[in-house]
Amino acid sequence: FRLPDARNEPNPTYVEGSPERTKLLEVVKRMRSELPLKSELIIDGKAQAYSQAWEQPLPFEHKTTFTSYPLASKEQVSGAIDSALAAKKSWEQTPFVDRAAIFLKAAELVAGKYRHELIAATMLGQGKNMWQGEIDAAAELADFFRLNCNWAAEVMERQPTRGSDGMWSRLDYRPLEGFVYAISPFNFTAIGGNLIAGPAIMGNVVLWKPSPSNIYASTIVYKILLEAGLPEGVIQFVPGDAELINDVVFNHHDFAGLNFVGSSDVFRSLYARVGEGIGKKTYREFPRLVGETSGKNFTLIHPTGDIESAAYHTIRGTFEYQGQKCSATSRLYVPESRSKEFIDKLTSHIKKITIGNPVQDVSAFMGPVIHSRSFEKIKEVIDESNNDPSLKLIAGGKYDGSKGYYVEPTVYLADSPDHKLFNYEIFGPVLAIHVYPDAEWNSILKKVDQAGGGFALTGAVFANSRAAIREAEDALRYSAGNFYINCKTTAALIGQQSFGGARASGTNDKAGSSNPILRFTSPRLIKEEF
Ligand code: GLU
Repeated sequence: FRLPDARNEPNPTYVEGSPERTKLLEVVKRMRSELPLKSELIIDGKAQAYSQAWEQPLPFEHKTTFTSYPLASKEQVSGAIDSALAAKKSWEQTPFVDRAAIFLKAAELVAGKYRHELIAATMLGQGKNMWQGEIDAAAELADFFRLNCNWAAEVMERQPTRGSDGMWSRLDYRPLEGFVYAISPFNFTAIGGNLIAGPAIMGNVVLWKPSPSNIYASTIVYKILLEAGLPEGVIQFVPGDAELINDVVFNHHDFAGLNFVGSSDVFRSLYARVGEGIGKKTYREFPRLVGETSGKNFTLIHPTGDIESAAYHTIRGTFEYQGQKCSATSRLYVPESRSKEFIDKLTSHIKKITIGNPVQDVSAFMGPVIHSRSFEKIKEVIDESNNDPSLKLIAGGKYDGSKGYYVEPTVYLADSPDHKLFNYEIFGPVLAIHVYPDAEWNSILKKVDQAGGGFALTGAVFANSRAAIREAEDALRYSAGNFYINCKTTAALIGQQSFGGARASGTNDKAGSSNPILRFTSPRLIKEEF
């Protein structure tokens, strides 16, 4: 079955005085006046009562509660799984076009009726500015809903290409025989939508655990799916304590797949738990594990690189959304002959960066980091680095947690490319730079590959020499799942740059392509002789 090719949802400009900006800011104002907002725990299409919840403060004004995160009980988690399994048969027998229509309709609701609601929720809850909210919670989410339908159709079209007389062979793309567990992160509202949509469109049922720091926007996403006609129980919206939910899921006979975005450490521990379950023959089938996790993403500038462009892309790749993207640039290598020019340009751009409350100072380039845990961690890195004689602070180096969780865009120069700042993920606006001798291009290529703490998510090279681009592409073949030439390490566009890293950055199933869909099917080959 072929669906028309989906386009990427266009982004309105939100320029001063535009109707979309006026409308969005009205919604932001209304939401602010209604705090704290009510997030839900929804099983079988009905909001459930809960006795415990965690509070989520506004990241830019942490004395004010934004919403609370309901904590499902053990019985609620088990009950949600039971009724998802009960809903499975009729969902998987629902014709593909009817399943797809639900997600296509949901995409229209995202792009239309709920666009500003979703963006406003992401601005308040995640501290994104309005353009970042638009790109994530409106455009990327609609793209994920639409394109997963196309990808599912594309997968089902893959059929045996050779035949012979008197027989017929075909592939029946079955969903997994059990349920899929989706765990979504705080930093992109769209990612939660993608983690549930792909498996569900293929006929799977899903237990969705949204992030405690993206509960309100995720609640809206889920309600949109119900409004679009998603049958009750197909996806269960179950916020809760990770340990409690994991205990139920990983001891369940019908656990069949994990669709995860978050840190490598968490993914590693979940992988190990599944391994234990397999050892004990807990599961009917070998569960599919899909994870997109941490990074320590590099930018490498060649002596022929365009310095103006490298500086611009480094600012955006490192500091947009306060560096809270798995793909954010966090280590950079610049040749000695160009280092002064580059650092001057970078620091002069940094001086112009505005930091502010994303809902008042709506054009501020940077806002707060997400929560106190993240703020404390970044603070520790900055305190330690400020006192490290082998590092030179060249920008930022300060933070202010008095009102919101604000951290300055911060850059250190390190003498040694082996400094630990090149080797662990910070998930904040901190960049480490190493200046290498121009003649040592070949050894810096080796260093870029070996550093990065074992991660291999994204990387960029800036060069105008074709030979240098070829050398980097070859030497760094395994250093990044997404390799960018003359552009930043972030901002993969759905359907254009599929996304995912190898090594310790995940299973590299390439979100934004049909690959993850394939992981959540168990094809049956049917041969019939006539
Ligand atoms: N896909 C996003 C990008 O390319 C990053 C997603 C993430 O942070 O997980 O910037």
